[in-house]
Amino acid sequence: MKRATIFFFFAVLPLVPVFLSSCAVNPVSGRHELMLLSEKDEIRLGRKTDSQVVRQYGLYEDKRLTAYLNELGQRLARVSHRPSLPYHFKIVDSPVVNAFAVPGGYVYITRGILAYLNSEAELAGVMGHEIGHITARHTAEQYTRATLAQLGLGLGMVFSDTFRAFGDLAQFGVGMMFLKFSRDNERQADDLGVEYASRTGYDASQLARFFETLERMEEKGGRSGLPGWFSTHPNPEDRIGAVRKRAREWQSKLGLRNMKVNRNAYLWRIDGLVFGEDPRQGYLSENVFYHPLLRFQFPVPPGWKLQNTRSQVRIISPGKDAVMLFWISRSRTPREAAEKFVCDSGASVIESRGERVNGLAAHRVVSELKTRKGLVTILSYFIKKDRKVYEFHGLCIKSRFYYHYAPLFGDTMRGFKKLTDRKKIHVKPARVRVRITRRSGTLRKLLVALGASKDKLKELAVLNGRHLNDRVPANILLKIVEGGLQ
Ligand SMILES: [Zn+2]
Repeated sequence: MKRATIFFFFAVLPLVPVFLSSCAVNPVSGRHELMLLSEKDEIRLGRKTDSQVVRQYGLYEDKRLTAYLNELGQRLARVSHRPSLPYHFKIVDSPVVNAFAVPGGYVYITRGILAYLNSEAELAGVMGHEIGHITARHTAEQYTRATLAQLGLGLGMVFSDTFRAFGDLAQFGVGMMFLKFSRDNERQADDLGVEYASRTGYDASQLARFFETLERMEEKGGRSGLPGWFSTHPNPEDRIGAVRKRAREWQSKLGLRNMKVNRNAYLWRIDGLVFGEDPRQGYLSENVFYHPLLRFQFPVPPGWKLQNTRSQVRIISPGKDAVMLFWISRSRTPREAAEKFVCDSGASVIESRGERVNGLAAHRVVSELKTRKGLVTILSYFIKKDRKVYEFHGLCIKSRFYYHYAPLFGDTMRGFKKLTDRKKIHVKPARVRVRITRRSGTLRKLLVALGASKDKLKELAVLNGRHLNDRVPANILLKIVEGGLQ
Protein backbone atom coordinates (compact mmCIF):
# COMPACT_ATOMS: atom_id res chain seq x y z
CA MET A 1 0.00 0.00 0.00
CA LYS A 2 1.19 3.45 -0.71
CA ARG A 3 0.15 6.75 0.61
CA ALA A 4 -2.74 8.74 -0.70
CA THR A 5 -4.36 11.81 0.78
CA ILE A 6 -7.89 12.99 0.63
CA PHE A 7 -6.66 15.08 -2.24
CA PHE A 8 -6.22 11.90 -4.15
CA PHE A 9 -9.82 12.44 -5.11
CA PHE A 10 -9.02 15.83 -6.49
CA ALA A 11 -6.25 14.33 -8.53
CA VAL A 12 -8.19 15.02 -11.68
CA LEU A 13 -7.72 18.73 -11.20
CA PRO A 14 -3.99 18.93 -11.87
CA LEU A 15 -4.78 16.91 -14.98
CA VAL A 16 -7.02 19.62 -16.28
CA PRO A 17 -4.85 22.40 -17.59
CA VAL A 18 -6.75 24.55 -20.04
CA PHE A 19 -5.46 23.32 -23.35
CA LEU A 20 -5.93 25.55 -26.34
CA SER A 21 -8.33 23.87 -28.67
CA SER A 22 -6.95 23.04 -32.06
CA CYS A 23 -7.79 21.09 -35.12
CA ALA A 24 -5.88 17.88 -35.52
CA VAL A 25 -5.77 15.33 -38.31
CA ASN A 26 -7.00 11.92 -37.17
CA PRO A 27 -4.17 9.43 -37.88
CA VAL A 28 -6.58 6.67 -38.89
CA SER A 29 -9.32 8.49 -40.81
CA GLY A 30 -7.19 11.35 -42.13
CA ARG A 31 -10.04 13.76 -41.26
CA HIS A 32 -9.65 17.02 -39.37
CA GLU A 33 -11.34 17.13 -35.99
CA LEU A 34 -11.50 19.29 -32.89
CA MET A 35 -8.94 18.15 -30.34
CA LEU A 36 -7.98 19.77 -27.09
CA LEU A 37 -4.90 17.60 -26.97
CA SER A 38 -1.83 17.86 -29.15
CA GLU A 39 0.29 14.73 -29.45
CA LYS A 40 2.72 16.19 -26.94
CA ASP A 41 -0.12 16.86 -24.46
CA GLU A 42 -1.36 13.36 -25.10
CA ILE A 43 1.97 11.82 -24.14
CA ARG A 44 2.27 14.04 -21.06
CA LEU A 45 -1.26 13.14 -19.96
CA GLY A 46 -0.50 9.46 -20.52
CA ARG A 47 2.58 9.62 -18.31
CA LYS A 48 0.65 11.31 -15.50
CA THR A 49 -2.25 8.89 -15.70
CA ASP A 50 0.16 5.96 -15.78
CA SER A 51 1.67 6.86 -12.42
CA GLN A 52 -1.83 7.05 -10.94
CA VAL A 53 -2.85 3.70 -12.43
CA VAL A 54 0.28 2.05 -11.06
CA ARG A 55 -0.20 3.62 -7.63
CA GLN A 56 -3.87 2.81 -7.41
CA TYR A 57 -4.09 -0.67 -8.95
CA GLY A 58 -0.55 -1.98 -8.81
CA LEU A 59 1.28 -3.94 -11.48
CA TYR A 60 1.52 -7.72 -11.60
CA GLU A 61 5.12 -8.47 -10.69
CA ASP A 62 6.25 -10.95 -13.30
CA LYS A 63 9.17 -9.66 -15.35
CA ARG A 64 9.11 -12.45 -17.93
CA LEU A 65 5.39 -12.21 -18.61
CA THR A 66 5.59 -8.39 -18.79
CA ALA A 67 8.54 -8.57 -21.21
CA TYR A 68 6.60 -11.04 -23.37
CA LEU A 69 3.56 -8.75 -23.44
CA ASN A 70 5.70 -5.74 -24.24
CA GLU A 71 7.52 -7.50 -27.07
CA LEU A 72 4.21 -8.51 -28.69
CA GLY A 73 2.76 -5.04 -28.12
CA GLN A 74 5.74 -3.31 -29.73
CA ARG A 75 5.44 -5.53 -32.81
CA LEU A 76 1.76 -4.61 -33.15
CA ALA A 77 2.46 -0.93 -32.56
CA ARG A 78 5.07 -0.85 -35.33
CA VAL A 79 2.47 -1.83 -37.95
CA SER A 80 -0.15 0.57 -36.52
CA HIS A 81 -1.18 4.02 -37.79
CA ARG A 82 0.95 5.76 -35.14
CA PRO A 83 4.17 3.75 -35.01
CA SER A 84 6.21 6.60 -33.57
CA LEU A 85 4.29 6.99 -30.26
CA PRO A 86 6.26 5.71 -27.25
CA TYR A 87 4.14 2.64 -26.36
CA HIS A 88 4.08 0.97 -22.95
CA PHE A 89 2.39 -2.34 -22.18
CA LYS A 90 1.74 -3.28 -18.59
CA ILE A 91 -0.06 -5.99 -16.61
CA VAL A 92 -2.43 -4.63 -13.94
CA ASP A 93 -2.63 -6.84 -10.85
CA SER A 94 -6.39 -7.29 -10.96
CA PRO A 95 -8.64 -10.34 -11.44
CA VAL A 96 -11.09 -8.22 -13.47
CA VAL A 97 -11.21 -9.21 -17.14
CA ASN A 98 -10.47 -6.05 -19.09
CA ALA A 99 -7.89 -4.06 -21.01
CA PHE A 100 -7.48 -0.28 -21.02
CA ALA A 101 -5.90 2.26 -23.29
CA VAL A 102 -4.77 5.69 -22.13
CA PRO A 103 -3.74 8.51 -24.50
CA GLY A 104 -0.08 8.74 -25.38
CA GLY A 105 0.50 5.00 -25.92
CA TYR A 106 -0.24 3.33 -22.56
CA VAL A 107 -1.95 -0.05 -22.75
CA TYR A 108 -2.96 -2.05 -19.66
CA ILE A 109 -3.92 -5.70 -19.71
CA THR A 110 -5.25 -7.19 -16.46
CA ARG A 111 -3.97 -10.55 -15.22
CA GLY A 112 -7.68 -11.48 -15.25
CA ILE A 113 -7.91 -11.15 -19.03
CA LEU A 114 -4.62 -13.03 -19.49
CA ALA A 115 -6.13 -16.00 -17.63
CA TYR A 116 -9.15 -16.14 -19.96
CA LEU A 117 -7.23 -15.80 -23.24
CA ASN A 118 -6.38 -19.05 -24.99
CA SER A 119 -3.71 -18.18 -27.56
CA GLU A 120 -1.19 -15.57 -28.58
CA ALA A 121 -3.43 -14.74 -31.55
CA GLU A 122 -6.30 -13.88 -29.17
CA LEU A 123 -3.94 -11.73 -27.11
CA ALA A 124 -2.68 -10.01 -30.27
CA GLY A 125 -6.28 -9.22 -31.25
CA VAL A 126 -7.08 -7.72 -27.83
CA MET A 127 -3.87 -5.68 -27.74
CA GLY A 128 -4.43 -4.57 -31.34
CA HIS A 129 -7.93 -3.43 -30.30
CA GLU A 130 -6.49 -1.30 -27.46
CA ILE A 131 -3.79 0.13 -29.73
CA GLY A 132 -6.63 0.93 -32.14
CA HIS A 133 -8.34 3.06 -29.47
CA ILE A 134 -5.11 5.04 -29.18
CA THR A 135 -4.27 5.35 -32.89
CA ALA A 136 -7.83 6.42 -33.79
CA ARG A 137 -7.59 8.87 -30.89
CA HIS A 138 -10.73 7.55 -29.17
CA THR A 139 -9.06 7.97 -25.80
CA ALA A 140 -7.92 11.50 -26.55
CA GLU A 141 -11.40 12.33 -27.82
CA GLN A 142 -13.00 11.01 -24.63
CA TYR A 143 -10.59 13.06 -22.64
CA THR A 144 -11.55 16.12 -24.62
CA ARG A 145 -15.21 15.50 -23.79
CA ALA A 146 -14.50 14.80 -20.11
CA THR A 147 -12.37 17.93 -19.83
CA LEU A 148 -15.00 20.16 -21.34
CA ALA A 149 -17.44 18.84 -18.75
CA GLN A 150 -15.06 19.40 -15.85
CA LEU A 151 -13.61 22.81 -16.59
CA GLY A 152 -14.64 25.40 -14.08
CA LEU A 153 -15.34 23.05 -11.19
CA GLY A 154 -14.10 24.44 -7.92
CA LEU A 155 -12.43 22.33 -5.29
CA GLY A 156 -15.41 22.36 -2.94
CA MET A 157 -17.69 21.28 -5.73
CA VAL A 158 -15.38 18.46 -6.60
CA PHE A 159 -15.43 17.33 -3.00
CA SER A 160 -19.19 17.05 -2.86
CA ASP A 161 -19.27 15.38 -6.26
CA THR A 162 -16.64 13.04 -4.96
CA PHE A 163 -18.68 12.34 -1.90
CA ARG A 164 -21.63 11.46 -4.07
CA ALA A 165 -19.45 9.30 -6.23
CA PHE A 166 -18.13 7.23 -3.33
CA GLY A 167 -20.82 4.70 -4.05
CA ASP A 168 -19.90 4.46 -7.71
CA LEU A 169 -17.06 2.58 -9.21
CA ALA A 170 -15.92 5.74 -10.94
CA GLN A 171 -12.58 6.90 -9.64
CA PHE A 172 -11.28 10.37 -10.18
CA GLY A 173 -7.93 10.78 -11.85
CA VAL A 174 -7.99 7.49 -13.62
CA GLY A 175 -11.71 7.88 -14.29
CA MET A 176 -10.86 8.52 -17.91
CA MET A 177 -9.96 4.87 -18.27
CA PHE A 178 -13.46 3.90 -17.27
CA LEU A 179 -15.39 6.01 -19.75
CA LYS A 180 -17.47 3.91 -22.04
CA PHE A 181 -16.46 3.92 -25.69
CA SER A 182 -19.22 4.37 -28.26
CA ARG A 183 -20.28 1.35 -30.32
CA ASP A 184 -18.85 3.06 -33.41
CA ASN A 185 -15.50 3.44 -31.66
CA GLU A 186 -15.66 -0.22 -30.65
CA ARG A 187 -16.34 -1.33 -34.20
CA GLN A 188 -13.40 0.74 -35.42
CA ALA A 189 -11.06 -0.59 -32.68
CA ASP A 190 -12.08 -4.16 -33.62
CA ASP A 191 -11.26 -3.45 -37.27
CA LEU A 192 -7.91 -1.94 -36.32
CA GLY A 193 -7.14 -4.82 -33.93
CA VAL A 194 -7.83 -7.31 -36.73
CA GLU A 195 -5.66 -5.30 -39.11
CA TYR A 196 -2.68 -5.01 -36.73
CA ALA A 197 -2.85 -8.67 -35.69
CA SER A 198 -3.05 -9.73 -39.37
CA ARG A 199 -0.14 -7.50 -40.35
CA THR A 200 2.01 -9.21 -37.70
CA GLY A 201 1.07 -12.62 -39.12
CA TYR A 202 -1.56 -13.76 -36.59
CA ASP A 203 -4.89 -15.43 -37.31
CA ALA A 204 -7.02 -12.44 -36.32
CA SER A 205 -10.25 -14.46 -36.40
CA GLN A 206 -9.13 -15.77 -32.97
CA LEU A 207 -10.27 -12.42 -31.53
CA ALA A 208 -13.82 -13.57 -32.33
CA ARG A 209 -13.22 -16.69 -30.20
CA PHE A 210 -12.27 -14.50 -27.30
CA PHE A 211 -15.43 -12.41 -27.73
CA GLU A 212 -17.36 -15.69 -27.49
CA THR A 213 -15.60 -16.42 -24.21
CA LEU A 214 -16.44 -12.93 -22.92
CA GLU A 215 -20.11 -13.37 -23.76
CA ARG A 216 -20.23 -16.55 -21.69
CA MET A 217 -18.66 -14.90 -18.66
CA GLU A 218 -20.57 -13.40 -15.83
CA GLU A 219 -19.25 -9.91 -15.81
CA LYS A 220 -18.05 -8.89 -12.41
CA GLY A 221 -16.06 -5.92 -11.26
CA GLY A 222 -13.40 -6.69 -8.68
CA ARG A 223 -12.80 -5.43 -5.19
CA SER A 224 -10.26 -3.13 -6.78
CA GLY A 225 -13.09 -1.12 -8.35
CA LEU A 226 -12.01 -1.83 -11.93
CA PRO A 227 -14.97 -2.35 -14.29
CA GLY A 228 -15.30 -5.38 -16.57
CA TRP A 229 -14.86 -5.48 -20.35
CA PHE A 230 -18.41 -4.70 -21.50
CA SER A 231 -18.80 -1.68 -19.21
CA THR A 232 -15.99 0.06 -21.11
CA HIS A 233 -16.07 -1.74 -24.49
CA PRO A 234 -19.78 -2.15 -25.42
CA ASN A 235 -20.70 -4.69 -28.11
CA PRO A 236 -21.38 -3.28 -31.59
CA GLU A 237 -23.95 -5.24 -33.58
CA ASP A 238 -22.82 -8.69 -34.74
CA ARG A 239 -19.35 -8.14 -33.34
CA ILE A 240 -18.24 -11.75 -33.69
CA GLY A 241 -19.41 -12.10 -37.31
CA ALA A 242 -17.85 -8.76 -38.24
CA VAL A 243 -14.47 -9.72 -36.76
CA ARG A 244 -14.44 -13.04 -38.64
CA LYS A 245 -15.33 -11.28 -41.93
CA ARG A 246 -12.64 -8.60 -41.49
CA ALA A 247 -10.06 -11.24 -40.60
CA ARG A 248 -10.79 -13.11 -43.85
CA GLU A 249 -10.55 -9.84 -45.81
CA TRP A 250 -7.17 -8.98 -44.33
CA GLN A 251 -5.86 -12.50 -44.82
CA SER A 252 -6.61 -12.41 -48.52
CA LYS A 253 -5.49 -8.80 -48.90
CA LEU A 254 -2.11 -9.59 -47.32
CA GLY A 255 -1.91 -13.04 -48.95
CA LEU A 256 -1.34 -14.64 -45.53
CA ARG A 257 -0.68 -18.34 -45.24
CA ASN A 258 0.19 -20.37 -42.13
CA MET A 259 -1.07 -17.68 -39.83
CA LYS A 260 0.13 -17.90 -36.24
CA VAL A 261 -2.20 -18.96 -33.42
CA ASN A 262 0.46 -20.06 -30.89
CA ARG A 263 -1.91 -21.71 -28.46
CA ASN A 264 0.55 -23.91 -26.58
CA ALA A 265 3.26 -21.26 -26.43
CA TYR A 266 0.77 -18.82 -24.90
CA LEU A 267 -0.65 -21.28 -22.37
CA TRP A 268 2.81 -22.21 -21.04
CA ARG A 269 3.47 -18.48 -20.57
CA ILE A 270 0.53 -18.15 -18.19
CA ASP A 271 1.16 -21.36 -16.26
CA GLY A 272 1.24 -20.25 -12.61
CA LEU A 273 -0.60 -16.94 -13.16
CA VAL A 274 -2.40 -15.70 -10.02
CA PHE A 275 -6.15 -16.22 -10.47
CA GLY A 276 -8.97 -14.31 -8.73
CA GLU A 277 -8.44 -11.90 -5.84
CA ASP A 278 -4.95 -12.16 -4.33
CA PRO A 279 -5.50 -12.55 -0.56
CA ARG A 280 -1.93 -11.45 0.18
CA GLN A 281 -3.01 -7.91 -0.73
CA GLY A 282 -5.84 -8.01 1.80
CA TYR A 283 -9.03 -10.03 2.08
CA LEU A 284 -12.37 -9.99 3.82
CA SER A 285 -13.37 -13.02 5.85
CA GLU A 286 -16.42 -13.14 8.13
CA ASN A 287 -16.65 -9.36 8.41
CA VAL A 288 -12.98 -8.86 9.23
CA PHE A 289 -10.48 -7.35 6.79
CA TYR A 290 -7.05 -8.99 7.03
CA HIS A 291 -3.85 -7.71 5.45
CA PRO A 292 -1.23 -10.50 5.58
CA LEU A 293 1.63 -8.42 4.14
CA LEU A 294 1.16 -5.42 6.43
CA ARG A 295 -0.03 -7.62 9.33
CA PHE A 296 -3.11 -5.77 10.49
CA GLN A 297 -6.82 -6.47 10.72
CA PHE A 298 -10.02 -4.53 11.43
CA PRO A 299 -13.74 -5.38 11.52
CA VAL A 300 -16.11 -4.26 8.75
CA PRO A 301 -19.82 -3.63 9.50
CA PRO A 302 -21.99 -6.43 8.03
CA GLY A 303 -23.53 -5.54 4.68
CA TRP A 304 -21.03 -2.77 3.87
CA LYS A 305 -19.20 -3.04 0.58
CA LEU A 306 -15.42 -3.10 0.67
CA GLN A 307 -13.17 -2.00 -2.18
CA ASN A 308 -9.48 -2.66 -1.80
CA THR A 309 -6.99 -0.97 -4.10
CA ARG A 310 -3.26 -0.65 -3.66
CA SER A 311 -3.55 2.92 -2.41
CA GLN A 312 -6.62 2.71 -0.19
CA VAL A 313 -9.52 0.72 1.19
CA ARG A 314 -13.05 2.12 0.89
CA ILE A 315 -15.97 0.72 2.83
CA ILE A 316 -19.37 1.92 1.66
CA SER A 317 -22.63 1.72 3.63
CA PRO A 318 -25.51 -0.32 2.17
CA GLY A 319 -27.47 2.92 1.55
CA LYS A 320 -24.37 4.56 -0.02
CA ASP A 321 -24.79 7.51 2.34
CA ALA A 322 -21.64 6.91 4.39
CA VAL A 323 -18.13 5.82 3.62
CA MET A 324 -14.99 4.89 5.49
CA LEU A 325 -11.63 5.48 3.84
CA PHE A 326 -8.39 3.90 4.97
CA TRP A 327 -4.80 4.39 3.83
CA ILE A 328 -1.23 4.80 4.95
CA SER A 329 -0.14 8.30 5.89
CA ARG A 330 3.23 9.75 5.03
CA SER A 331 3.46 11.41 8.44
CA ARG A 332 5.64 9.94 11.19
CA THR A 333 3.30 10.31 14.17
CA PRO A 334 -0.48 10.07 14.60
CA ARG A 335 -0.59 13.68 15.80
CA GLU A 336 1.36 14.95 12.80
CA ALA A 337 -0.93 12.99 10.44
CA ALA A 338 -3.99 14.48 12.16
CA GLU A 339 -2.65 18.02 11.80
CA LYS A 340 -1.84 17.43 8.16
CA PHE A 341 -5.33 16.10 7.47
CA VAL A 342 -7.00 19.11 9.10
CA CYS A 343 -4.74 21.48 7.21
CA ASP A 344 -5.13 19.75 3.80
CA SER A 345 -8.88 19.21 3.96
CA GLY A 346 -9.81 22.60 5.43
CA ALA A 347 -12.16 20.82 7.87
CA SER A 348 -13.05 22.59 11.13
CA VAL A 349 -12.11 20.58 14.19
CA ILE A 350 -14.76 19.76 16.80
CA GLU A 351 -12.70 17.37 18.94
CA SER A 352 -9.06 16.28 18.80
CA ARG A 353 -7.25 14.05 21.29
CA GLY A 354 -4.60 11.37 21.66
CA GLU A 355 -5.65 7.86 22.74
CA ARG A 356 -4.59 4.23 22.46
CA VAL A 357 -6.16 1.65 20.16
CA ASN A 358 -5.44 -1.97 21.13
CA GLY A 359 -2.16 -0.87 22.68
CA LEU A 360 -1.14 1.27 19.68
CA ALA A 361 -0.53 5.02 19.82
CA ALA A 362 -3.40 6.86 18.12
CA HIS A 363 -5.02 10.26 17.59
CA ARG A 364 -8.74 10.84 17.17
CA VAL A 365 -10.35 13.81 15.41
CA VAL A 366 -13.97 14.75 14.80
CA SER A 367 -14.35 17.50 12.21
CA GLU A 368 -16.85 19.12 9.87
CA LEU A 369 -16.55 20.14 6.27
CA LYS A 370 -18.86 22.34 4.23
CA THR A 371 -19.75 20.86 0.86
CA ARG A 372 -22.26 21.76 -1.81
CA LYS A 373 -24.51 19.04 -0.41
CA GLY A 374 -24.38 20.45 3.11
CA LEU A 375 -22.32 19.80 6.22
CA VAL A 376 -20.34 16.56 6.31
CA THR A 377 -19.09 15.25 9.65
CA ILE A 378 -15.92 13.17 9.74
CA LEU A 379 -14.55 10.80 12.37
CA SER A 380 -10.82 10.19 11.84
CA TYR A 381 -8.33 7.90 13.57
CA PHE A 382 -4.58 8.00 13.01
CA ILE A 383 -2.93 4.86 14.38
CA LYS A 384 0.75 3.94 14.49
CA LYS A 385 1.87 0.35 13.94
CA ASP A 386 5.37 -0.85 12.96
CA ARG A 387 6.66 2.61 12.02
CA LYS A 388 3.70 3.32 9.74
CA VAL A 389 0.77 5.61 10.51
CA TYR A 390 -2.57 4.30 9.24
CA GLU A 391 -5.45 6.70 8.82
CA PHE A 392 -9.19 6.12 8.82
CA HIS A 393 -11.85 8.66 7.86
CA GLY A 394 -15.56 7.97 8.26
CA LEU A 395 -17.79 10.50 6.46
CA CYS A 396 -21.52 11.15 6.30
CA ILE A 397 -23.87 14.13 6.38
CA LYS A 398 -24.09 15.77 9.79
CA SER A 399 -27.69 14.77 10.52
CA ARG A 400 -26.83 11.05 10.29
CA PHE A 401 -23.52 11.21 12.14
CA TYR A 402 -23.98 11.13 15.93
CA TYR A 403 -26.84 8.69 16.37
CA HIS A 404 -26.31 6.53 13.36
CA TYR A 405 -22.87 6.29 11.78
CA ALA A 406 -20.39 7.49 14.42
CA PRO A 407 -20.73 4.29 16.51
CA LEU A 408 -20.24 2.10 13.41
CA PHE A 409 -17.21 4.13 12.30
CA GLY A 410 -15.79 3.87 15.83
CA ASP A 411 -16.21 0.07 16.01
CA THR A 412 -14.20 -0.41 12.83
CA MET A 413 -11.48 2.11 13.66
CA ARG A 414 -11.02 1.08 17.30
CA GLY A 415 -11.02 -2.55 16.13
CA PHE A 416 -7.75 -1.99 14.21
CA LYS A 417 -5.03 -4.27 15.61
CA LYS A 418 -1.95 -6.33 14.82
CA LEU A 419 -2.59 -9.50 12.83
CA THR A 420 -0.88 -12.40 14.60
CA ASP A 421 -2.99 -15.44 13.57
CA ARG A 422 -0.59 -17.50 11.45
CA LYS A 423 -3.41 -19.12 9.51
CA LYS A 424 -4.66 -15.69 8.44
CA ILE A 425 -1.14 -14.55 7.54
CA HIS A 426 0.04 -17.51 5.44
CA VAL A 427 -2.57 -17.39 2.71
CA LYS A 428 -1.83 -18.31 -0.88
CA PRO A 429 -3.60 -17.13 -4.01
CA ALA A 430 -5.22 -19.50 -6.51
CA ARG A 431 -3.19 -20.02 -9.68
CA VAL A 432 -3.82 -21.08 -13.27
CA ARG A 433 -2.08 -24.40 -13.96
CA VAL A 434 -1.57 -25.85 -17.42
CA ARG A 435 -1.96 -29.64 -17.75
CA ILE A 436 -1.71 -32.10 -20.65
CA THR A 437 -4.65 -34.42 -21.31
CA ARG A 438 -3.58 -38.07 -21.26
CA ARG A 439 -6.64 -39.47 -23.02
CA SER A 440 -9.38 -38.11 -25.24
CA GLY A 441 -12.84 -37.50 -23.77
CA THR A 442 -15.40 -34.84 -23.01
CA LEU A 443 -14.03 -31.67 -21.46
CA ARG A 444 -16.06 -32.46 -18.34
CA LYS A 445 -14.41 -35.87 -17.89
CA LEU A 446 -10.92 -34.59 -18.55
CA LEU A 447 -11.26 -31.66 -16.13
CA VAL A 448 -12.49 -34.00 -13.40
CA ALA A 449 -9.57 -36.35 -14.13
CA LEU A 450 -7.23 -33.38 -13.71
CA GLY A 451 -8.67 -32.85 -10.22
CA ALA A 452 -11.13 -29.99 -10.88
CA SER A 453 -13.94 -29.74 -8.32
CA LYS A 454 -17.50 -30.16 -9.62
CA ASP A 455 -18.69 -26.67 -8.71
CA LYS A 456 -15.85 -25.10 -10.73
CA LEU A 457 -16.46 -27.03 -13.96
CA LYS A 458 -18.59 -24.37 -15.65
CA GLU A 459 -16.09 -21.61 -14.97
CA LEU A 460 -13.20 -23.82 -16.11
CA ALA A 461 -15.00 -24.52 -19.39
CA VAL A 462 -15.23 -20.77 -20.04
CA LEU A 463 -11.61 -20.34 -18.96
CA ASN A 464 -10.61 -22.89 -21.60
CA GLY A 465 -12.85 -21.38 -24.29
CA ARG A 466 -14.70 -24.71 -24.66
CA HIS A 467 -17.97 -26.34 -23.60
CA LEU A 468 -18.23 -29.18 -21.07
CA ASN A 469 -19.62 -31.63 -23.63
CA ASP A 470 -16.93 -30.84 -26.27
CA ARG A 471 -14.76 -33.81 -27.27
CA VAL A 472 -11.13 -33.06 -26.48
CA PRO A 473 -8.31 -35.16 -27.99
CA ALA A 474 -5.38 -36.56 -26.00
CA ASN A 475 -2.19 -34.50 -25.58
CA ILE A 476 -3.95 -31.14 -25.49
CA LEU A 477 -3.14 -28.42 -22.96
CA LEU A 478 -5.95 -27.45 -20.59
CA LYS A 479 -6.08 -24.84 -17.85
CA ILE A 480 -7.20 -25.68 -14.35
CA VAL A 481 -7.15 -23.55 -11.18
CA GLU A 482 -5.33 -24.71 -8.05
CA GLY A 483 -5.16 -23.46 -4.47
CA GLY A 484 -6.57 -20.26 -3.04
CA LEU A 485 -8.65 -19.44 0.04
CA GLN A 486 -10.95 -22.25 1.05
ZN1 LIG B 1 -12.72 -1.13 -26.98
